[in-house]
Amino acid sequence: MKIEFPVPQEVTRVTETLKKAGFEAFLVGGCVRDLFLNRKPKDWDVTTNATPEQIIPLFPHTFYENTFGTVGIVNDETEDSSLKTVEATPYRIESDYSDNRHPDKVTFSQKIEDDLKRRDFTMNALAYDTTTGKIIDLFDGIKDIKDKTIRTVGKPEDRFKEDGLRILRAVRFFAELGFVVSPETEKAILENADLLKNISKERIRDEFTKIIMSEKPMDGLLLLRKLGLMKYVIPQMEEAYDIEQNHAHKYDVWEHLIRSVQTAADKNFPLEIRLTAMVHDISKPAARRWDAEHEQWTFYGHEVLGSRETKKILSDLRFPAKVVEKVTTLARWHMFFSDTEQITLSAVRRMIANVGRENIWDLMNVRICDRIGTGRPKEDPYRLRKYHAMIEEALRDPVSVAMLKIDGKKIMDVTRETPGPKIGWTLHALLEEVLDDPKKNTEEYLENRAKELFSLPENELEALGEKGKQTKEEADEEEIKKIRGKHWVK
Ligand code: ATP
Ligand code: MG
Repeated sequence: MKIEFPVPQEVTRVTETLKKAGFEAFLVGGCVRDLFLNRKPKDWDVTTNATPEQIIPLFPHTFYENTFGTVGIVNDETEDSSLKTVEATPYRIESDYSDNRHPDKVTFSQKIEDDLKRRDFTMNALAYDTTTGKIIDLFDGIKDIKDKTIRTVGKPEDRFKEDGLRILRAVRFFAELGFVVSPETEKAILENADLLKNISKERIRDEFTKIIMSEKPMDGLLLLRKLGLMKYVIPQMEEAYDIEQNHAHKYDVWEHLIRSVQTAADKNFPLEIRLTAMVHDISKPAARRWDAEHEQWTFYGHEVLGSRETKKILSDLRFPAKVVEKVTTLARWHMFFSDTEQITLSAVRRMIANVGRENIWDLMNVRICDRIGTGRPKEDPYRLRKYHAMIEEALRDPVSVAMLKIDGKKIMDVTRETPGPKIGWTLHALLEEVLDDPKKNTEEYLENRAKELFSLPENELEALGEKGKQTKEEADEEEIKKIRGKHWVK
């Protein structure tokens, strides 16, 4: 079979250089599959019978980290990040996989067949010769691409036992490409799901992130559950299944969460918002209580428990600390915009003080996902504009101690006090007042008020200051105790 694909010259330069030096060289893997599908390849991989020692001297700028023989060939001129490095890897044979994840030994081969048969799926096992346009298709990969089918190269159970991550990759390609998993591959996944136990969290996270970032995360999550994989990825998601809510909700908690993620994908929101959409109600099962008087379920405090759980889920999956922190914060405050009664200008200022200026617009977007994920119609555009206007207005006002027109030093000047806890209490008591009424943020008012506060009995000033100063952690600790006291008897 001969095909002419539009391959960028940064890539053909690599294959042609190798061939001119007397070696074989093919494009291989995801890029060939994507060329067939008219999708832009994320990266370009070349496979060759040259060894790393033979590849390196042929190119001016390479790097080699000695992991499985891959040589990075750098294109210094291009701006396109997918073309910056083209990876060239010698044909590889992977011997036994006694731990279900790594080959015991990797050896280089002179035969392209060896390299293609170690690959995961038939659609990923095509080799393309950029000079002749010839395709090597030993496992009917072209047919599977045409039929939109994900099928392992060789017997699925053997291939999954070699490397359990392939199970998750099948779901990832299902979500990314909209292909279906072939029946025998699906059967082997169901029977071998527990192989995921052996796979490192980092590898699981990377495939899971691709599912969440795909166009169809909801389908991906449904398939993860259907195939019994969710408990090895995020067990808490499994618990949301079938947790019925009250009348305002058409869907159980699970379905609400996956619909919220899908909304985030439809709106092309970034990873952090998609993750928040997925977990924001994760503790509803734990917080759910029957309110006999009103004959309905309550979920009091679920956002406080939920942000704790979120931190655990994302840290377990080894997401970077910045991602964990942001998603945890957004999950903690996600209820704010859903309760329209709360939305006064001073409440918006307090919310900005809680989530941080950098997160307030993201919180609005989380709310959009939450709302549409509930099956409710889109927000009335007038009200949405009103919220936007309020946020913009509130953002101009002081929302932290650092933004006050007074500081600790000034307080000590006007009160003739020495450093001590009273200074901090005063600052936080002043911020509380300014959050309520930003017009009070003047030097004159704050200096006079600082003097007045100082003349209060110490315990009163402490109470005022601590109210504002209390860290979010402490506040949540108390909140959790209250929830426990109310529902769980201690
Ligand atoms: P993407 O478009 O996301 O880059 P991809 O198919 O290129 O998808 P990669 O993870 O970049 O996926 O891997 C490149 C190729 O290496 C795959 O197409 C496949 O042939 C092979 N491969 C990757 N991971 C495995 C694995 N766990 N087992 C077997 N083959 C694999
Ligand atoms: Mg790739």
